Amino acid sequence: MSGYEVLRKQLAKESKIVPSDSMAVLEEFEEFEEFEEGLPGGPMKSFRKELWFEVPTRRAFINITPEVEEYVRESGITEGLVLVNAMHITASVFINDDETGLHHDFDTWLEKLAPHESVSQYRHNVGEDNADAHLKRQIMGREVVVAITDGKLDFGPWEQIFYGEFDGRRRKRVLVKIIGE
Ligand code: ZN
Repeated sequence: MSGYEVLRKQLAKESKIVPSDSMAVLEEFEEFEEFEEGLPGGPMKSFRKELWFEVPTRRAFINITPEVEEYVRESGITEGLVLVNAMHITASVFINDDETGLHHDFDTWLEKLAPHESVSQYRHNVGEDNADAHLKRQIMGREVVVAITDGKLDFGPWEQIFYGEFDGRRRKRVLVKIIGE
């Protein structure tokens, strides 16, 4: 008996207690299996690229949407997902509006939450001074995932992808991984 069948039997048993919800779950599993058996189109492709930065200031927000769009074109993948993540624990990748006032607000807000000065207030800063950058990165996030539909990033209104640097003046990178067909 496959794992799927075991799960199905178990769900069917549980459905005696809560019939409506369990049936809904079963139907989703059915659809998933059909999808697994007969994938439309060709085999799944994957594409990987690194985007490098050397930001001259300690902090910056950089719109990297054009680069990600270029990599999606390069990959030839027209239906799939793109993952974009910072490869450093003092930098972020996030999605928001490309509006300078908002970027100023983000910077002010983050500086209030985790001010750079005084450096000595942080336990992490023994031999380094970037504790605030670790905290800022945690709030702004490590990565984003965007759907690719018809070869284009499937964004909501005004969505753009940004690299958030919180401890710059050295070489750092972002990973772009695209999977699909
Ligand atoms: Zn550190």
